[in-house]
Amino acid sequence: MYLPTIGLEIHAELTTRTKMFCESANDPDETKPNVNVCPVCMAHPGTLPVINREAVRHILRIGTAIKGTLADFSEFDRKSYFYPDIPKGYQISQYMHPLVTGGELLGVAITRVHLEEDTARSIHTTGKSLVDFNRAGIPLMELVTEPVIEDAETAGRFARELQLLLRTLGASEANLEKGEMRIEANVSVSKSDFKSEFPEVRLLGTKVEVKNLNSFRSVERAIAFETERQIALIEGGGKVVQETRGWDEEKQVTFHQRFKEESADYRYFPEPDLPKLFLSEIPEFYPETIRASLPELPWKKRNRLRKEYKLKEEAAELFVQNVELGTFFEKVVSGRTPDFARLAANYITSDLLSLMKSDMPGNLPSAQDFRALVEMAMSGKLSSRGAKDTLALMYGHTEGGDPETIAKEHNLIQIHDSATLNTAVDTVLIREEKAVLEYKSGKLSALQYLIGKAMQESRGAGNPESLRKLIEVRLQELN
Ligand code: ADP
Ligand code: MG
Repeated sequence: MYLPTIGLEIHAELTTRTKMFCESANDPDETKPNVNVCPVCMAHPGTLPVINREAVRHILRIGTAIKGTLADFSEFDRKSYFYPDIPKGYQISQYMHPLVTGGELLGVAITRVHLEEDTARSIHTTGKSLVDFNRAGIPLMELVTEPVIEDAETAGRFARELQLLLRTLGASEANLEKGEMRIEANVSVSKSDFKSEFPEVRLLGTKVEVKNLNSFRSVERAIAFETERQIALIEGGGKVVQETRGWDEEKQVTFHQRFKEESADYRYFPEPDLPKLFLSEIPEFYPETIRASLPELPWKKRNRLRKEYKLKEEAAELFVQNVELGTFFEKVVSGRTPDFARLAANYITSDLLSLMKSDMPGNLPSAQDFRALVEMAMSGKLSSRGAKDTLALMYGHTEGGDPETIAKEHNLIQIHDSATLNTAVDTVLIREEKAVLEYKSGKLSALQYLIGKAMQESRGAGNPESLRKLIEVRLQELN
């Protein structure tokens, strides 16, 4: 038996006005190449970097959210390597003194979170390679986990939760497809029946780093594949070698890219052009100041929604993932009973969500109108069918969609007034003589027909169940 071990390294482009060390715009949506550049991020000689405080603040907020330790002292280092996407010949990163150490997310221990600058984007086409420097120097978070994850699903869950956290904090858009969040998985396997003299020490196998994981599914599949590949390799008498492998989305396999550099190859040394950061002397970076700036964190919100409104797991999860709907829900049910909240949650998570997912153009109703709709459903003014139809009409409305007006306009109000229903039934029973006779001679489908007619007569507002009862009683009387 083999035990897989996984450690993740996750990069995320931070949301800031300008780049990490200069005044060039940080605009991930810029499509024209090489417009957000300046002498600093183009590495012209003699230029000097300046630290972006917004980026430092993002990292400290992330670190606080994951219960890491914020550094009292931090500094940047030069990481040297030669590649066209790195115009200076080195990347400014952090090595010995990251901004954040320790912490955990979903029970997975985090080693560190540090700040660095993104590289330029290389575009390889046939016959030539192009470089777009818009991305060069964009602030980049790197978060490293301990090698403590034991399966692909946990790795996937961790990465999804981190994405949600980054979005909640406004630290990054964190879209994987856009490369705003990049996940690398380090994978190794070890014999699980290996008996160590020191059981608290886990002996790990040689790790392989897997890159180009462009979706959470790829993360999970690549880890699963890589685990199996390594086991088969060892079982066949081979040895895992430390290397970087890519993930081939089409073939669903990992493939060799390069043998891994040692950190010594990077010749890390403290960046002499930047000041050291004595964070404990900068009030805006005090741990308590940072903590006070945090919004409600996803895992707290999840628990609170479930407790406060007695929501089912899926509803709570939807409201945590979809901030717009979560905020809408809380606005609608504020100050109402748990029954009201549960009914409102149902209409939002099933009916409203499917309208939003459909091709039908529309808008989220106002909280006030939606609250009125739920009230009408609760009081029986609208049947559940009527409430769904009214909601669809409210959704399609461009301006103001008061459910009472809409339901009246479309005859969706459920009539409880028995006099009105009785009149409708009587009219139908007189008019539909043939169906009445058929029903009396035992043809049950005639009853369904009569109910349909009575619904039409009551202009769609009669409840089919009460109409059925009324018709049965009336026919009994007529006998
Ligand atoms: P390197 O020096 O090669 O960059 P690190 O020790 O810094 O390696 O770890 C980088 C990442 O690899 C971390 O996420 C860590 O958890 C993970 N890792 C380290 N050793 C292993 C291993 N044996 N198996 C799986 N992952 C590992
Ligand atoms: Mg490392």
